[in-house]
Amino acid sequence: MTVAKKLTKCPYCKETIAAEAIRCRHCHADLVDKTGRRTSFFSRYNTFRTGFIVGILFTLVVGFLVYLQFYVSR
Ligand SMILES: [Zn+2]
Repeated sequence: MTVAKKLTKCPYCKETIAAEAIRCRHCHADLVDKTGRRTSFFSRYNTFRTGFIVGILFTLVVGFLVYLQFYVSR
């Protein structure tokens, strides 16, 4: 018996990836197959937008904490 991984091709960049991969390691596209109701476009869009929003929130929180630190310890 071989322990070969099942392979498939990324539908976006056509690179060979593991069949169970949920994200292409070459082009980082989200691959939600079988269970996937999400289309690639929306998943990529949502990933970008979510990252953007999380980045802003993180910056705000860190900024607030830094502000508090200075304010409290003045
Ligand atoms: Zn790809």
